[in-house]
Amino acid sequence: MIQPERIHKMKTGTRNSGTHVVYWMQAAQRVENNHALAFAIELANQKQVGLIVAMVLMPAYPSANTRHYRFMIEGLSYLKSQLQGLGALFHVAYGEATDVVATVTEDACALVMDDVMGAELGHLKKEVVGHVTCDAYYIETNVIVPVKHAYLKEAYAAYAIRNALNRKLDAFAIPFQTTPVARPIPNTHHEIFREDWAVNEILKTHYGHLEILNGPVTVIGGEDQANILLKAFVETHLTSYGEASNNPGLDATSKLSAYLHFGMISPITILEAVRKANVPSGAFVEQLFVRRELAYNYVRYNPNYKKDLFQVLPDWAIQQLKSHGKDVRPYVYSPSEIESAQTHDPYWNAAQKEMVKSGFMHNTMRMYWGKKIIEWTPSYEAAFDLMIYLNDKYLLDGRDPNGYAGIAWCFGKHDRPFSERPIFGKIRYMNDKGLKRKYDMESYIKRVEALGGQDDTLSSG
Ligand SMILES: Cc1cc2nc3c(=O)[nH]c(=O)nc-3n(C[C@H](O)[C@H](O)[C@H](O)COP(=O)(O)OP(=O)(O)OC[C@H]3O[C@@H](n4cnc5c(N)ncnc54)[C@H](O)[C@@H]3O)c2cc1C
Repeated sequence: MIQPERIHKMKTGTRNSGTHVVYWMQAAQRVENNHALAFAIELANQKQVGLIVAMVLMPAYPSANTRHYRFMIEGLSYLKSQLQGLGALFHVAYGEATDVVATVTEDACALVMDDVMGAELGHLKKEVVGHVTCDAYYIETNVIVPVKHAYLKEAYAAYAIRNALNRKLDAFAIPFQTTPVARPIPNTHHEIFREDWAVNEILKTHYGHLEILNGPVTVIGGEDQANILLKAFVETHLTSYGEASNNPGLDATSKLSAYLHFGMISPITILEAVRKANVPSGAFVEQLFVRRELAYNYVRYNPNYKKDLFQVLPDWAIQQLKSHGKDVRPYVYSPSEIESAQTHDPYWNAAQKEMVKSGFMHNTMRMYWGKKIIEWTPSYEAAFDLMIYLNDKYLLDGRDPNGYAGIAWCFGKHDRPFSERPIFGKIRYMNDKGLKRKYDMESYIKRVEALGGQDDTLSSG
């Protein structure tokens, strides 16, 4: 079931016949509830040709390091088996997307793409389309409601978009079975991902030039892993999510964000599992649907989301920053002291360590983490840039609309004014006493101390 609002035709090709359809899989690295894959199969079956699903493992993806590549590569062998089951040929190539896609579409009748977010990747998509001669489409499959159909402009806050999203939820949150390819291409002439290639070997051979960021060893990429995690979350934490999810000491959230970021699971699959559990789940759906799709709205409509703090904030917040920019900071830390978790604040240090060691950080701690970086950095702009740098480097779910929206939220985006205080003005403030009063912070610190994973950054700082 592919709603027409998800389908965007980017180019009418100079020819419409060919030997196959190509789906360039980028942001939706899954088979289940993948509208781009289903659309590509539908086209192939209509034209009575086969389907090649191409993944291009580029030598340098914006802001990616070996931690991100590892997570993605771990998902490939499951993906391969599922695609083969549907009769699609899986072609994994190392190189530049423009060259690989141009080659694989040479005799193709259509190119299908999924919905990468962000300016750099949008630009790459246009460049790739410029090099192909067949029809080209992109399909929105990583959101429940297609972004522009949900809301026609940048939403001021969650309240502005919530009703519009909820009205459209039932029309778009429709799980479906993917039909197989009627005419599979024989498995002969394309490079196929080999399961016997160890992830480390691939990293060394193709990404030796990148910054090495190991771990987290316990989090493994892939659609199968996402489904295991989803099942465990629904069975264990969904019922108590409303009361427990904000408490960093309880570790009671789904941890699905990295899988959502790589498109290894669809929000529709998650919503379906949550609905089937038949327990109160409003608080979870607010995060998964309203907050997440608000972030997509932000990044789609505001091109400055990671470039210019003063171009993304509401007027009231800009005014506050302008009048408090020169306020004295009680503590100022250098970027390297911050990165290596060397501040006076044990809660904040634990949050930074959680991020470095595990590639994840609890939501409450992400808010606190951001607020303190604002407080301890000489300028707001420097704080904004540092937060984006650290967030995208260490988090497995980094480089995501949710991250850019979360960071802007720390400066007042999508929020409202509170009472005035130094440095923040009327922008919401958080302090360690509040964390201690409301949550089990000692358990949080203990859990972070027990984490394995990368800590070179922490010890070298
Ligand atoms: C400073 C800051 C930085 C952040 N950076 C990122 C980031 O890089 N990537 C990222 O995915 N999220 C980011 N978030 C949002 C949020 O913290 C994470 O999505 C959440 O903690 C992921 O954990 P979970 O999957 O266990 O979430 P759960 O609580 O289980 O929620 C389920 C899903 O809902 C969505 N969600 C949850 N909370 C939010 C939120 N506040 N805003 C938007 N969507 C939400 C996520 O997709 C999440 O996986 C950031 C928030 C802040 C304040």
